[in-house]
Amino acid sequence: MSASPPRSLHDLSFAAMENELRAAGVSAHHAKALWRALHFHGALDPLGHDGFSPPLQRWLASAVGEGKEFFLDAPEVVVESHSSDLLTRKFLLRLRDGHCIETVLMGYDGRHTACVSTQVGCAMGCVFCATGQMGFVRHLRPGEIIAQVLHARRVLHASDPQRRLRNLVLMGMGEPLHNYAAVMQALDAISNVRGINIGPSKISISTVGVVPGILRMAEESRPYRLAVSLHGSTEAERAALVPVSKQWNLAELISACRTYGTLTGKRIFVEWTLVAGRNDSLETAGRLAELLSGMDVHINLIPLNPTSGFGGTPSTAGHAFQRVLRAAGFPCTLRQRRGIDVAAGCGQLQAAKRL
Ligand code: SAH
Ligand code: SF4
Repeated sequence: MSASPPRSLHDLSFAAMENELRAAGVSAHHAKALWRALHFHGALDPLGHDGFSPPLQRWLASAVGEGKEFFLDAPEVVVESHSSDLLTRKFLLRLRDGHCIETVLMGYDGRHTACVSTQVGCAMGCVFCATGQMGFVRHLRPGEIIAQVLHARRVLHASDPQRRLRNLVLMGMGEPLHNYAAVMQALDAISNVRGINIGPSKISISTVGVVPGILRMAEESRPYRLAVSLHGSTEAERAALVPVSKQWNLAELISACRTYGTLTGKRIFVEWTLVAGRNDSLETAGRLAELLSGMDVHINLIPLNPTSGFGGTPSTAGHAFQRVLRAAGFPCTLRQRRGIDVAAGCGQLQAAKRL
């Protein structure tokens, strides 16, 4: 029995894993085999994994398992649903403490993408978002973020072992930059070439606009893609949909995005959920183009997924809105409402379970 609360083996960075082994009197070079088993093979039971050296096997037997120092993050599938075209599969996963999070696996045009959560609930309170309507429960640990990707990859390989999970978006439940350290540690592991090995340029972090987090990503030269959920072209328009705009207002956010662009030389993805009568007029599109002028951005227009806690309705002006932005020279995509039949919108499976 260990005295301190058990810890997740998936929470250990490679260096921390080496340290744990060393501290237990096991040579640190065994960390390579253990890391590979957990992150490359996605082993759910490292004890049953072939090819470990006897010292590593002894350490695993003594340190990992019920009542011992370490456990594995292997969330249980509570609900699984898929879209009628089978291209979107959504999982409600139960964590060790009973809280549930959502993970989505999408496969379009031969590209397979996992969409994972970074928090249980969210503190940012965007009015149209089912997760925002739940409020904040807690941050996820790195291991809980990694385990979602491992689960998605396992499901993908079960359908066809040749398929590779190449893309990851942090667009599930929660605000990634509100859980900065855990998210970055998880992404370091997920992009590790000896592990899951998703290229950093294929990983997108979507933020509601946590200004200090955006600047920190630039200062730390994080190699991931940044998506910023803007949703409003004036302070008032944005604040009505995104309450956290009162903390980091639109002017500050745009300035942080410009700094990010200058420091990193990277394109920013702007996310815009279109809500009828709230942010879908042609004037708004024109103001948005002005706001973003001179920036290297790609604008993604997202059709609203109706949620029980929000009375707004989906816009029918998507194409016209897109035309204004394109005419102003911005690459702009109008997303399809894919997966709507599995309530694929953020936080909606969780919300449906509560009903
Ligand atoms: N917290 C981050 C990432 C998770 S939300 C963020 O806000 O960016 C991912 C994206 O889904 C965001 O752009 C968000 O605005 C959008 N979204 C959330 N609920 C939605 C809904 N009901 N309909 C359409 N888009 C939604
Ligand atoms: Fe949180 Fe993103 Fe939902 Fe806003 S849209 S409440 S930031 S998860």
